[in-house]
Amino acid sequence: MFQRDVSIEDTASRLAVNRVVEPSTGPSPPRESPEYVRTSLAAAITLGLMPGRFYRNAKLYCLNLLLTYREGCAGRCAYCGLSHTRTIAKPWDEYSFIRVEWPVVLLEDVARRIESGFCSHVERVCVSMVTNGKAKNDTLKIVGVLSEKIEAVSALIAPTIVDKKWLGKLKHAGADKVGVAVDAATPELFERLRGKGVGGPHKWNKYWRVVEESVEVFGRFNVGIHLIVGLGETEEEAVKTIQKAYDAGALTHLFSFFPEENSQLQDSLQPPIGKYRRVQLARFLINKGLARVEDMTFDRVGRLTDFGIAEDLLNETVESGWPFMTSGCAGKSMDSACNRPFSNCTPYQAYLGELRNYPFQPNRDDVELIRRQLWDYSEEPVRVWMGEVAGELLNQRYRC
Ligand code: SF4
Ligand code: SF4
Repeated sequence: MFQRDVSIEDTASRLAVNRVVEPSTGPSPPRESPEYVRTSLAAAITLGLMPGRFYRNAKLYCLNLLLTYREGCAGRCAYCGLSHTRTIAKPWDEYSFIRVEWPVVLLEDVARRIESGFCSHVERVCVSMVTNGKAKNDTLKIVGVLSEKIEAVSALIAPTIVDKKWLGKLKHAGADKVGVAVDAATPELFERLRGKGVGGPHKWNKYWRVVEESVEVFGRFNVGIHLIVGLGETEEEAVKTIQKAYDAGALTHLFSFFPEENSQLQDSLQPPIGKYRRVQLARFLINKGLARVEDMTFDRVGRLTDFGIAEDLLNETVESGWPFMTSGCAGKSMDSACNRPFSNCTPYQAYLGELRNYPFQPNRDDVELIRRQLWDYSEEPVRVWMGEVAGELLNQRYRC
């Protein structure tokens, strides 16, 4: 996700993080929400709580925070680092999530650092709930605190435990956008990976009902769904779900599956880059109102072969590089402030040409590479695209 750079290490920041992250000796109360939150590693670096810098000098524009409880999340989702099905001998608040550690920090410290202007380029904060009874009230409190420090606050909600009345309270607390992590593209996959198949509490219909209720409360396109490509769906199934969300008034924020160590899907493969690029482009076209799934063509195994738009518009869209940037909640000056640098691939994979979600505008060389990937139908999960780079790396005996 990032390259550590000790040369920019700030001792004061390190002491601050030690103060909140390191457990003190002797019995101490659990560090739980609402006083504490977990931050993505990228957010911790951006807040100056940890040292580091991003590959290719990417910048983070949305601070992603996660509620934290000793008992964790009641979900048992097969692909998730926070799932209780994960076989790992650690307290829940030390589980990694989306590939990286999420340090526990004081909410007060986060709020103070935002207020100080330390990361003034940040345009949004996101508060992610977990499926835990305490999360409803705590989310309202945390959103309330943060919305006094920054103008745009999203909530990634836990549909299983919320209702429309609560969504009204969330808006009143200061959230302007809501995310619903549907994640799986079909009811069957959802049931298998998040519901009965894993003994989990989540239900496909409830998730979509909450999407609809969120649109009623927050307004069209102030709601987003998360969709993970690579959980076993076809491209056609993924694109149909993107269209379903759009028609309901929700944008789709796309993720590329990455196997989380010790999760049930730890041995599953990442989706081939060609598949991911085609779904990215289809998502962009649908969410911009430029195309509909009914206009697109799929082959007999559900792979996109035609995007249903004129060739010059297709070329122009690809040329812009925008469809391949990270999709997430917007900021005041950008389409997606939530740009999650390197959360769906390692910097090493990015170096080999497999940067799944560009956290910045792709440059000319990136677009050239994307063009090749877009029409690649091979099934290899990760390929080396930069031949000269690959040779150099192999010589240096790098490992993925
Ligand atoms: S509900 Fe969300 S956080 Fe909990 S296990 Fe499922 S995906 Fe992970
Ligand atoms: S897209 Fe980003 S900011 Fe929006 S709900 Fe999802 S994680 Fe939060």
